[in-house]
Amino acid sequence: MRVLVTGGCGFIGSALVRRLVADGHEVVNLDAMTYAGDARTVAEVSRANNYSFLKADITDRAAISDAFKTFKPQQVFHLAAESHVDRSIDGPGVFIQTNLVGTSILLDCALEYWRSLPGEAADAFRFLHVSTDEVYGTLAMTDVAFREDTPYAPNSPYAASKAGADHLVRAWAETYGLPAVITNCSNNYGPFQHPEKLIPTVIRTALSGADIPVYGTGENIRDWLYVEDHVAGLIAAMATGRAGRKYNFGGDAERTNIDLVRDICGLLDQKRPGTAPYADQIRFVTDRPGHDLRYAVNAARAKSELSWAAAVTLDEGLSQTLDWYLTHPEWLSRDPAEIARLGLSRSEGDA
Ligand code: NAD
Repeated sequence: MRVLVTGGCGFIGSALVRRLVADGHEVVNLDAMTYAGDARTVAEVSRANNYSFLKADITDRAAISDAFKTFKPQQVFHLAAESHVDRSIDGPGVFIQTNLVGTSILLDCALEYWRSLPGEAADAFRFLHVSTDEVYGTLAMTDVAFREDTPYAPNSPYAASKAGADHLVRAWAETYGLPAVITNCSNNYGPFQHPEKLIPTVIRTALSGADIPVYGTGENIRDWLYVEDHVAGLIAAMATGRAGRKYNFGGDAERTNIDLVRDICGLLDQKRPGTAPYADQIRFVTDRPGHDLRYAVNAARAKSELSWAAAVTLDEGLSQTLDWYLTHPEWLSRDPAEIARLGLSRSEGDA
């Protein structure tokens, strides 16, 4: 397959690109290389004959239109986005620009291209939009998990921009017939995640002897999915997902932030013992404004219709993830000045 991936130098996009290239697909990775893009994430495939990179911004209509005409993709995985909730609170503008305006431009260009395809190729074409469970808002402790028909109620500027993008994709499918699929996933974790996100932040601060910041009282609950399991879900949704349909992915692995942080500290105590337990470094910091209490995902549709299931448990995945960061210390020290300047050590999971 000729596959166009947007945001393929980010955390999840690069895991998808590495998988697709290894599976023999012809992949174009289109990425603007914002602060979140890093060429090291795709270094292992960068010389493969079936891989190429295109530096382009999804808000650049001419560049995106050109990319469709030149590459003629049979499948599009759209992951390019601004993805960090804290940054969206500090500066929502770029989130609206990339996540909303950028997605609308990508949809326009995909539609123009799709309309130019002959019948069979047009029928087989798919546009897969990768989104988050945060579009559904927050849950009380006793609420049932988010389903695909749970009403949207985004609370952060990030979640609102992703919700808006989902609505645009839905509208392009309903109004113009663009064969699009939307997926909504819970918090991902694994190798190559930006050091500003929760799990890399905990590992980095623990190992450096700094305070390990936890928002509020740490009682917020997130569901965690290993990034390779998410990638498997995206590939399944692309292969067998129905155009116009939506699929949730989650790990059935709800954990409070404080429990997750303590689990990471416990694993670090075993794998890289210090002079005192790492949990002694945990400090509670002022809560994020509008902090969602709980996310939980019902992935029954993906399980029954896509034959997908998470293969890696949270405990296994955390252990593997820690092993990766411990053997790639250079990744955690990436942009330390920028991380300090932005105060991003007050990080939280998600996107
Ligand atoms: P990331 O921040 O690690 O990577 C985003 C990538 O998009 C970067 O390579 C960046 O350079 C690129 N990009 C940003 N703006 C761009 C633009 N205007 N044009 C082209 N490229 C641009 O993000 P991630 O964590 O890998 O998330 C990928 C997607 O998955 C996002 O759409 C996000 O909303 C969604 N998602 C993430 C999670 C999670 O836990 N990380 C969970 C559910 C859904």
